[in-house]
Amino acid sequence: MHANIHEIDADRFDEVVLKAKFAVVDFYSDECPPCEALAPKFEGLAELYGKDVAFVKIFRQKNRPLAESLGVKGSPSVLFFVKGERVGPVLSGGIKKSALQAQLDEMVGQPRALTIRAGEVKTETVCDVLVVGAGPAGMTAAMYAAQAKKSVIVIDSALAGGAMGATHQVANYPGFPKPVPGWQLAENFREQASNAGVQWRLASEITRLDLGERTAVVDRLETILAKKIVLAMGTTPRAIGVPGERELLGRGISTCATCDAKYMVDKDVVVIGGGDAALEESQLIAQFAKSVTIVHRRGEFRAKPQHVDAARANPKISFLLDTRPTGFWKSGDGIEVELESVATGDKNRRAVGGVFLFVGMLPNLDLAKNMLELDDEGNVLVDEWRHTSVPHVFAVGDLVKKPVKQVTMAVADGTVAGIAAAKEVDHESEGTSESECEICPPALRELGCVQI
Ligand code: NAP
Repeated sequence: MHANIHEIDADRFDEVVLKAKFAVVDFYSDECPPCEALAPKFEGLAELYGKDVAFVKIFRQKNRPLAESLGVKGSPSVLFFVKGERVGPVLSGGIKKSALQAQLDEMVGQPRALTIRAGEVKTETVCDVLVVGAGPAGMTAAMYAAQAKKSVIVIDSALAGGAMGATHQVANYPGFPKPVPGWQLAENFREQASNAGVQWRLASEITRLDLGERTAVVDRLETILAKKIVLAMGTTPRAIGVPGERELLGRGISTCATCDAKYMVDKDVVVIGGGDAALEESQLIAQFAKSVTIVHRRGEFRAKPQHVDAARANPKISFLLDTRPTGFWKSGDGIEVELESVATGDKNRRAVGGVFLFVGMLPNLDLAKNMLELDDEGNVLVDEWRHTSVPHVFAVGDLVKKPVKQVTMAVADGTVAGIAAAKEVDHESEGTSESECEICPPALRELGCVQI
């Protein structure tokens, strides 16, 4: 832990937080991937702003009454204080460094913020393969390219693991006879890729990505220039789009059972969705909650039969089918959810301890959307070697359409792209002839694979 960060319990809250001129408090939990992703950003900012602002970490599970008295409902939650008064937003979930820094700048005031930021140093790094996204697809691509002796950098705004890392148990990854926690599998992937020489920029934001120039700017300060880019940004939870959803996300509504199920002890919980995620994660939530009601808009589930059977066999789990949520409100310590019968349009409200949304995922393409050809559903179009429409740029994993979105499929994509990217780098530096090359796309082969 950085010397500028105070790890405290509730008994020192008044002294360390409320008496400070400026304070920022991170309520975190263990086994919480977004909390781990936040930790290095928090430390980096403590280094810069630590003389002006008290940086405080509080372990939420050990300090529940304090967390609840401050309205903290999810981990991580970051709160800001000026002379003992709450200011600014509560940041929660996947917290960006820029969002934290913007609030710190506001607290210390623009003139002081400019002085502090003047201490930041800009750098430039060159590599063979830049992988954007540290899920199973990205880490596999990185590992293969690094094993082929290419210099590889992986960037992710979170820690390694992607959606796999936040999965309670992965029961279908070959080679693991027993279910393995997603974070554990992610750590194994990361260690194997590190052993091959992969360099990491985790918990870091790409503030600019230029696929044509093959450059990425990380956290505004480091520019990375690459010969090949592998896009592996995965997906983010889809929103339902009903009143109260956005406002209460992280404050009673969650999309991460691994992070928040443990706070549902003896509570009634509603889970929305009928896919694998809803059915599987309900099992984890039911380990803590008094009851779990799975609300699904149709009469049949999209989830695999084994997940449906397991949920049906769990006495704590019940089902409300042909029903959809139409709004969420704060209700005491919990949430009031309005549910509508799809058949009759009848509505009723129920108060619950928490709501989990598992209504699917959307490709994470904000960084690169207008640069790539996409299909009608928004997936990135690729050829058999996972080349995108932009030369030297690959896409893998959940960015690409597949019949089933499984870790094994992501790993297969990463394998193909990692090998192809490494071979192309070799071809371009050695001048492999068109007839010798089976991997480079035709446009590159015509140039003798030595372009650029
Ligand atoms: P999904 O399979 O797309 O399912 C999303 C569910 O949310 C569907 O049941 C859908 O209803 C419902 N939904 C969508 N929009 C909604 C709305 N506006 N209001 C109410 N309900 C809505 O998503 P997922 O469960 O996150 O799974 C994503 C991928 O990951 C899948 O390929 C899945 O197999 C994979 N995955 C696998 C595992 C595993 O095998 N262990 C675990 C998790 C995820 P409809 O059915 O009516 O469309």
